[in-house]
Amino acid sequence: MGTAISSLDPMVSIAGLSKHFHAHQVLSDVHLSVAAGERVVVCGPSGSGKSTLARCISGLESYASGTVTVNGVAVSPRMRHVDLVRANIGMVFQQFNLFPHLTVLENCTLAQRWVRHRSRQEARQTALAYLDKVRLAEKASAYPAQLSGGQQQRVAIARALCLNPSVMLFDEATSALDPEMVKEVLETMILLARDGMTMICITHEMGFARAVADKVAFMDGGRIVQAAPPGEFFGHCADPRIQRFLSQVF
Ligand code: ADP
Ligand code: MG
Repeated sequence: MGTAISSLDPMVSIAGLSKHFHAHQVLSDVHLSVAAGERVVVCGPSGSGKSTLARCISGLESYASGTVTVNGVAVSPRMRHVDLVRANIGMVFQQFNLFPHLTVLENCTLAQRWVRHRSRQEARQTALAYLDKVRLAEKASAYPAQLSGGQQQRVAIARALCLNPSVMLFDEATSALDPEMVKEVLETMILLARDGMTMICITHEMGFARAVADKVAFMDGGRIVQAAPPGEFFGHCADPRIQRFLSQVF
């Protein structure tokens, strides 16, 4: 309690994290450390626990044992200030989850007003700055249904950035998109990486992993089987589970 956060402390620290749904063990003794500015790609077969891990990091899911800290603060849905902690973690999901009855600008200002208590003017300025960053400022008064899937996902990214999160967490952000739109969303993610954003990206885009990741983590059966820099991960990976996975996604 009250310990100063040193810049050497990881931005995200997960230790001994285990979770089960009834008798089904979904996460088993997961350890993962993400330094400030580091980009970690998490991959692995469907059902290996990736989304559950993401939800534990973002305070949406309870867990049986272990610790999750983001920027030095423990994360658990039971804690009192979980909304404030959640605001520190920008989540982008496969489904864009924009409010359909609100304009792009309103989608980006709502949480700023409620969670960050910003004035209407400040929220608007921040929203327009991030919409400009994802090259959608001219769509500020459009409604989500008027945008392509790729554009909607870029709005979702801008909306998350508006809260000035410490970490951005992407859970298969491009999986629901048509192939031609995958590229524009990945380019936006690469832009964020270049800006030094701390990122955890659950994705099967191994080209993105190679280009951007500092570390690639492979999950299987609720465990992190391997976490290594991309050169090592793709270069001489002996584990047959990883070999099988890579042969399927490439
Ligand atoms: P991934 O994202 O890697 O596909 P998930 O984290 O979504 O994997 O799921 C991991 C396992 O947990 C799966 O077997 C899934 O069926 C199970 N699971 C996920 N959410 C729930 C839930 N709310 N209740 C019961 N089982 C769940
Ligand atoms: Mg998933």
